[in-house]
Amino acid sequence: MGVIARYRERLPVTDATPMVDLDEGSTPLVESRNIAASLGLRRLFFKYEGLNPTGSFKDRGMCVAVAKALEAGSKVLVCASTGNTSASAAAYAARCRMRAVVFIPSGEIALNKLSQALMYGAKVVALKGNFDRALATVRELADSYPVALVNSVNPYRIEGQKTAAFEIVDALGEAPDYLLLPVGNAGNITAYWRGFREYHEAGKSANLPRMVGAQAEGAAPIVLGRPVENPKTVATAIKIGNPASWEGATSARDESGGLIEAVSDTEILQAQIRLASTEGLFAEPASVAPLALLYRLVREGRLEKDATTVVVLTGSGLKDPDVAIANVEPPVELDGDARSLAKALKL
Ligand SMILES: *Cc1c(COP(=O)(O)O)cnc(C)c1O
Repeated sequence: MGVIARYRERLPVTDATPMVDLDEGSTPLVESRNIAASLGLRRLFFKYEGLNPTGSFKDRGMCVAVAKALEAGSKVLVCASTGNTSASAAAYAARCRMRAVVFIPSGEIALNKLSQALMYGAKVVALKGNFDRALATVRELADSYPVALVNSVNPYRIEGQKTAAFEIVDALGEAPDYLLLPVGNAGNITAYWRGFREYHEAGKSANLPRMVGAQAEGAAPIVLGRPVENPKTVATAIKIGNPASWEGATSARDESGGLIEAVSDTEILQAQIRLASTEGLFAEPASVAPLALLYRLVREGRLEKDATTVVVLTGSGLKDPDVAIANVEPPVELDGDARSLAKALKL
């Protein structure tokens, strides 16, 4: 069952809204074994959003945005994307027999994300310039032509994405003390905060989490307090210089008593390897920015060790393997019989 069916009373849908789903959501909340132990944390969980149908959390909001677009009579979806939004829009368009036209920053998106959009049958347009420019272009398009804009400036995206907060509370029986996630265009931190607040108001949780956002050092407009003209980071999903939901992110941070900080690409790549090699969870670079930040907070004594912490792993590591494997040992070339192999491998 998808998120619309599971949470319909908390979503802006009616009987007139077509049912759209790819069985998104219901992702695992995996309890950490080894990172928690190494950091001395009592309860640490990973919300593994990479297991959504197109490999990122974008599917949660896309199904709602597409359902509402269909309800309004739209036939064409458009978006700007660093990769995952285009993959998700393309998949749901295919599912609903709509057209999708996706605009990507030329030469900047991970190959596997591009392959998804192409395979799902979207029209992919590579635009010169970065994501922020592509978003400005599609906003203009959507203002003047009969197309549905499905970036996270679309309020239905945020509505659908808040269901991840519901799932966490449903799984834990309460809200965590800390919720850590990456911040790019800032729709997701806005959505989680809304979800936690709505559940709290409905009496489903006694507490609210502190919202902790991670940006990449070279793309940290919210941390710096001003737009970044030429954002730079290996974490392409958060390589954004002027977030559309800026205000939503700072409200989430301030109202929850949380924080938003930047981590370096080196910290991100280290966290990616640690997560994969000690927990068996492979997440894309943007997804592990909050884990890199968690290491810092614990090291500096800024996060209580008996707190319940959830780190959102927003996208699958299979989205962008080139960046990841550039940092590990390549396969070894060996040949020979069992005996010589065993000797070489110290078995
Ligand atoms: C889109 C995305 C982000 C950033 O989310 P925002 O809502 O833009 O802040 C982070 N990680 C992954 C994997 C994404 O696809």
